[in-house]
Amino acid sequence: MQRPIMTSPAFLSQKSSAATQRDIPTAVDLADTLAAHSDRCVGMAANMIGVSKRIIVFKDETQNDRTATMFNPTIREKFGQYEAEEECLSLTGSRTVMRFRRISVEYQDEKFRTHTQTYTGWTAQIIQHEVDHCDGILV
Ligand SMILES: [Zn+2]
Repeated sequence: MQRPIMTSPAFLSQKSSAATQRDIPTAVDLADTLAAHSDRCVGMAANMIGVSKRIIVFKDETQNDRTATMFNPTIREKFGQYEAEEECLSLTGSRTVMRFRRISVEYQDEKFRTHTQTYTGWTAQIIQHEVDHCDGILV
């Protein structure tokens, strides 16, 4: 089910807590909400729909823009810093941020199996933005 977008900086600045299998319905709502905003949004974190759990969804360019879901994502390695201009569905305007061209992410899938995967470029940038949301960091 599509949920309203949380825009309170005070709420969004809180660090999200670990997600468990009980949070799977939130991940489904998050994917539905991303789909509803896909004209201007490529990724979301659960706190953007008001749930302070470490869950992200994003359009995975490496998988034909299929929506990928990650529980408890953590960036383990990062290489090649660069400056990027980003917008956020929860905020107005755009901001300059530092991102990395290649990252290694440890996360759990819908069955809570742990994976470590390397991402580059655009998809890596989206993941970094959404993991920042989980840590209460806004662009
Ligand atoms: Zn954002």
